[in-house]
Amino acid sequence: MRNMSKRDISIVIPVYNEEDNLKPLVTELREALHGVNKSYEIIFVDDGSWDRSFAILKEAASQDPQIRVIRFRKNTGQTAAFDAGFRASQGDIVVTMDADLQNDPHDIPHLLEKIGEFDVVCGWRHKRRDPWIKIVSSKIANFVRNKLSDEEIVDTGCSLKAFRSECLQDMKLFNGMHRFLPTLAKMEGFTVTQVKVNHRPRKFGTTKYNVTNRMVRAFADLLAVRWMKKRNLKYEIEETIR
Ligand code: UDP
Ligand code: MG
Repeated sequence: MRNMSKRDISIVIPVYNEEDNLKPLVTELREALHGVNKSYEIIFVDDGSWDRSFAILKEAASQDPQIRVIRFRKNTGQTAAFDAGFRASQGDIVVTMDADLQNDPHDIPHLLEKIGEFDVVCGWRHKRRDPWIKIVSSKIANFVRNKLSDEEIVDTGCSLKAFRSECLQDMKLFNGMHRFLPTLAKMEGFTVTQVKVNHRPRKFGTTKYNVTNRMVRAFADLLAVRWMKKRNLKYEIEETIR
């Protein structure tokens, strides 16, 4: 029998000090999901915010049973927040996005259209609305990443993605790995596609990363992923007896 709490879609959103973004985000999500005609839950993972984010999320959850909140004891990082959200999720499809209103919830239906045909659908911010230094460094990072890991994801830093939940079930994540989710899924034999999505400037709050810390960390992570990909076990069993 189908689990009664099972949903069609889980939206997983890491939150670290995003107090001014949360209310408009919930409104936009409701609007965007209204026409989709599927059951959903929104899982906010508060990654140790010290502003009013948790209070706002708590209130939102008290008014809307579709909203769930997980609060970390302290700031642990975006990958950990995704991981906690994935483990809690009850949806057949998991959608990830940022809490800062830079991703547009109205793109979610476009991602969902491709799920079924593909196991993972990655958003690609074809018109980035960020400071130029971030746009340039992200272009370089994507180029290096794709070259060194023999990959072709144009914009892996875009959090807006959709996954069939099976892709995430057995995925072992490490700090920083949220940038490599499509590659990790492919290593397990899942299929990946990319769709262009809208991107908006950050109106409220500030970015949690700077160009240098992101570059250094992401490069170390890239070498780990490159190694994992090279050493990935790929074998075909021709026959088994008994
Ligand atoms: N975030 C988080 N924990 C962190 C850093 C970021 O949960 O330690 C969240 C943040 O609140 C946002 C998303 O991850 O929802 C992406 O962060 P940000 O917008 O700062 O990254 P950028 O868009 O600048 O790459
Ligand atoms: Mg952002």
